[in-house]
Amino acid sequence: MARVVVVGAGLGGLSAAARLAALGHAVTVLEQAPEVGGKLGWFSRDGHSFDTGPSLVTLPQVQRDLFAATGARLEDAVDLVRLDPAVGYRFADGTALSMPGRLDAVPAALDDALGAGAGRQWSALLDRAAAMWRISEQPFLRTPLEGAATLARLARRPGDVRAIAPWQSLRGLGEQYLRHPHLRTLLDRYATYSGSDPRRAPAVLATVPYAEQAFGSWYVRGGLHRLALAVLERAVAHGAVVRTGCTVGRVLLDGGRVAGVELTDGERVAADVVVSGVDAAALHTDLLPDDRRTRTARRDLGRATPSLSGFVLLLALRGRTPGLAHHTVLFPDDYDAEFDAVFGAGRHAGRPVPVADPTVYVSAPDDPALVPDGDSESWFVLVNAPRHDPGGGVDWNSPGLAERYADRVLEVMAGRGHDVRDRVRWRVVRTPADLARDTGSVGGSIYGTSSNGSRAAFLRPANASKVPGLFLVGGSAHPGGGLPLVGLSAQIVAGLVGPA
Ligand SMILES: Cc1cc2nc3c(=O)[nH]c(=O)nc-3n(C[C@H](O)[C@H](O)[C@H](O)COP(=O)(O)OP(=O)(O)OC[C@H]3O[C@@H](n4cnc5c(N)ncnc54)[C@H](O)[C@@H]3O)c2cc1C
Repeated sequence: MARVVVVGAGLGGLSAAARLAALGHAVTVLEQAPEVGGKLGWFSRDGHSFDTGPSLVTLPQVQRDLFAATGARLEDAVDLVRLDPAVGYRFADGTALSMPGRLDAVPAALDDALGAGAGRQWSALLDRAAAMWRISEQPFLRTPLEGAATLARLARRPGDVRAIAPWQSLRGLGEQYLRHPHLRTLLDRYATYSGSDPRRAPAVLATVPYAEQAFGSWYVRGGLHRLALAVLERAVAHGAVVRTGCTVGRVLLDGGRVAGVELTDGERVAADVVVSGVDAAALHTDLLPDDRRTRTARRDLGRATPSLSGFVLLLALRGRTPGLAHHTVLFPDDYDAEFDAVFGAGRHAGRPVPVADPTVYVSAPDDPALVPDGDSESWFVLVNAPRHDPGGGVDWNSPGLAERYADRVLEVMAGRGHDVRDRVRWRVVRTPADLARDTGSVGGSIYGTSSNGSRAAFLRPANASKVPGLFLVGGSAHPGGGLPLVGLSAQIVAGLVGPA
């Protein structure tokens, strides 16, 4: 039995803690915030409640595996609902597309909304994406990252390399398969699921829409935050001790290997194994000593583009919107302008700025647990945003910016058919700077590093660090961000640590 300290009680840290405790280790989780969940957060006031981070569960089988490994059933712990329709899209020319929640219904819906043949184009793309998924799921997503060995596993057959096409961008893949411009826009959007720019993200990200449509879009009744609480319960059931309000200031080493952690108040907690669930850039910059190993890790992180961040509005609304989908996406006229603004590219080269005419995502669950009465709605509104970077980019703390930009987002929504300005009881604005402060993610990056560039997946830190006894879990480590991948990172870490 090892003494394990898990730093951070986001879904990554909690999942690792539950798995390692179930394997018989003595686990202590140390979380700086007063609550667990990290980005999988929750906000409640006057009967209006909101998930402040994730609003969409994909690949529920990953969470199911976690519960099975810790002696429970996911479906007994949370009330999972498959969404159908999955998303209501509105394109800049006013075209509406209600995307079904079942794969077999997608082609007909695309033909109806976009014209005959659109369904066939999308299905051809998803066939290719399905092949990519079969090739990459086990050797990449479910296996520790091992540089050349990982590449060799992915390239076992020449046909596999052609299917993955590491030289091709997601945008390039869209141009190859999709003639309808709205289908290309739809595919581009999936780059943002890993915080990336479709013009630089690899084609293999087509596995994201494949996984979403093949395995479904899901909601947790009562709010996704309940998933964090359910995983917490699994960890505690196996004896893990979870302490909130404890900020880890240093990872302690002895003879080059991990020896425990020191809290910012000076308390030391000894450990044989430390699992870091905090942002990998923060771990290597702030918590580890400056030596050859951390310098190498920092260099690799510095070579990758950080993921985009998000600007969030929580809207407590009076009244109801007839026919509103659970998820709504309102696309702009010029999607490339959004990526240029967020990543400081093209016309904004070297100068990221808030997106003037952003894509707007609205999540408005029809769930009585989230509203004070039947004549109210709680909307979570998210737009892609450059990270908080007072030195060289956007300073989201500059006076007035957050409120001005919130007004702008509401104006954009109004222009696209969702004018709720006279229904707002109150609103809460959460900028990338808030995300950085609340969860310790550097600059408020949602997913650690982005997938921009063909090497990005290999620049993300591996789950076993170069420091013996130190492991990395969560969205900024392999295999990446988003709830399912974070769950897979915990599974890999548990496999690396092994049973007690
Ligand atoms: C606005 C938004 C929308 C999103 N939408 C989706 C979605 O719809 N679907 C999806 O799958 N994913 C989505 N994501 C991504 C998803 O939330 C993350 O990938 C995932 O929750 C990350 O979990 P994590 O455990 O890696 O990190 P975190 O949740 O960031 O956890 C890290 C934890 O470490 C703690 N910590 C940091 N430093 C210290 C320290 N020094 N000492 C102690 N504790 C520390 C933090 O307080 C935090 O609790 C979204 C994220 C955001 C922000």
